[in-house]
Amino acid sequence: MPGDADPEFVTLDCSAVLADVWLLLDNECDSDARTRIQGHIDNCPSCLAHYGIERDLKALISRKCGGDEAPQGLRDRLRIEIRKTVISQTTVVFPDDNGR
Ligand SMILES: [Zn+2]
Repeated sequence: MPGDADPEFVTLDCSAVLADVWLLLDNECDSDARTRIQGHIDNCPSCLAHYGIERDLKALISRKCGGDEAPQGLRDRLRIEIRKTVISQTTVVFPDDNGR
């Protein structure tokens, strides 16, 4: 249908958000990634809820960017959820999780 949003673009955009979440997991507080994620949540409110990570992600952002260390359990849960999501529906490639 002409004029409708391209569903492929929306899908790509949502995948890009997961890449930003990954970035945030590995950095203390990446303000660019945080801004992109929060902007995406505003425009695509069902997206992260669909992934099942919306609540965890909000907790992660407020902890990290509030100066607290995110609990290891929270980070692990997010990594697992993102990996499952990526494997099941996208071809986004994340950098290897090494160096720690
Ligand atoms: Zn989305």
